[in-house]
Order: sequence, then C-alpha cells, then structure tokens
Amino acid sequence: MSTQKEVLGVFEAGSNHWVGDGFPVHNLIPSSGVDRQIDPFLMLDYVSPTEFLPSSRPRGVGEHPHRGFETVTIAYQGAVEHRDSAGNAGTIFPGDVQWMTAASGVVHEELHEREFTKAGGTFEMVQLWVNLPKAFKMSAPRYQAIASAQIPVVDLGSGSTARVIAGELDGVRGPAKTFTAVNLFDLDLKAGSKVEVKIPAGHQAGLVLLHGDVVVNGSSAISGKAQMGLLSAGGESVAIEAHADSVLLVLSGEPIGEPVASGGPFVMNTQAELRQAMEDYRAGKMGRLEYVQ
Ligand code: MN
Repeated sequence: MSTQKEVLGVFEAGSNHWVGDGFPVHNLIPSSGVDRQIDPFLMLDYVSPTEFLPSSRPRGVGEHPHRGFETVTIAYQGAVEHRDSAGNAGTIFPGDVQWMTAASGVVHEELHEREFTKAGGTFEMVQLWVNLPKAFKMSAPRYQAIASAQIPVVDLGSGSTARVIAGELDGVRGPAKTFTAVNLFDLDLKAGSKVEVKIPAGHQAGLVLLHGDVVVNGSSAISGKAQMGLLSAGGESVAIEAHADSVLLVLSGEPIGEPVASGGPFVMNTQAELRQAMEDYRAGKMGRLEYVQ
C-alpha cells in the first residue's frame, strides 16, 4: 500500500484577466494563493472554452520577451500560432503541446492561428510556466514542438485515460525533455471512474481541474471549472473519483528551492539579474522578430 498525498487545500483563480486580446485567462498559480508551495511551477493560466467571432486580424499577444524559465502551452480547442527570435515557428493545434525553454532569453509572439481567426470558434488552452535552476537560467533557448500523436496515453480503466506529456506514469515516459524532475499528465476522466495516480514522494504537486467534478482521496471535492487542489510533498499517490466527465491536469515536480525574483516576463534569482534582463532585452540581446510581408 502506498501512502496518499494529502490535499492541503482547494483553490480558485484569484485573478481573471485578459492576456493580450486573445487569451481571457483564469490564473490559478500564483493568484489563487498557491505560489511557492508548488515549486518549480511559477504560473498557470487557463483559458476556459470561449467563443470568438470571425476576425480579419489575429488576436493574441504581440512581440514580448522571456528569460529564466520555460513556457508550456497545451491547446484544447482552437489553435495558437507562434514564432520567436531563435527562428522557431509553428502552430499548436488541439492536443499539441509546445514546451519552450526561454532560458537566456527569447522574444516571441503568440497569436490565434490564421484559419481559426478567420472562421472564429471555441478556444481553450493552458499555459504553464516551469522554473529553471540557477545553473540553467542562462543556457541556450530550446524549443520542443510536441504533436498530439507523440504523447503516449495510459489507460486508467473505465474509459479514463492519462496523456503523459512529461515525466513518467505507470512505466510510460512522456516526450518532453525537462531540466529537473517534472511530471505533467493530462487526465480525461469518465463519470463514475476511480483512478489512482502515482506521484513521487518529495514532489510538490497539484491537481488542476479544468472542468468536471472529482473527489480526491475519498474526502476532498474539486468541482466546477478552473479549480486547483494543492497536494503535500509527502505520500506517493492520489485516488481520484470522477463524479462527472472531467479534465484534470496533474502537475508535480522536485522543488528547486532557490530564491525567486520575478518581474513580468522574467524570472531570475535576484533583483540585479532582473534589471540585467530588462537591459539585455532593450539592447536587443534576446533578438527580435523579423517582419516579412
Ligand atoms: Mn510569452
């Protein structure tokens, strides 16, 4: 018998706001109050299903920098077009994941994909920020475009499944390369199913319910949309009972345990490093986007 991780609390978004003009987000980390208790995760925004009317101009976030961490984008409905100063470009379609290591710095834009923009429709996505240890904050940027078909699916029984994006579940490894031990599982739970998810002892962890209704370890209810259960580092599994069809992200990671200095799009260890990041960005050291007609 493995010991269960304790549910330390259930949280809702502390801030609901627009990121650019394309992403109306529920912010679950850190505005819910879940902040350093879930090191190495810095931020989690969820765009719950939102209707967009047809438009001739792509909505989203224009050119902006990042340094010191990774951005992970998971598309559920609609699609995101991305390009950056390192020369990477691509489209994140439903089921796909983009794992971008900003590290020493990239400048990028994130926009609704062209065809989606023209046709309009329902948009749903998650963006998660994963911190980097000091030793890797200034390493070279990296870009992992992970297509849905590359993500292995673990059968959890009763029609419920887990997509293993990063880390390992039941001996199945996810495709994302990470700098520290990180698990990211995307669970699709059918009403009535009961599943057990193994999460290593020592990992700080959370369950992010995008929508649905679950009971964790027989006692803690997480229901509705954009709700988050914070789990203890101790214990090595959670039991999840779905009372409705539910979509749930499981995040866990080995805590980095270093000082965090956070300023908008930069996350470093000290205030001096944040000032340096701003200076380097302004001086063009993170590159620029090329504009082609
Ligand atoms: Mn960005």
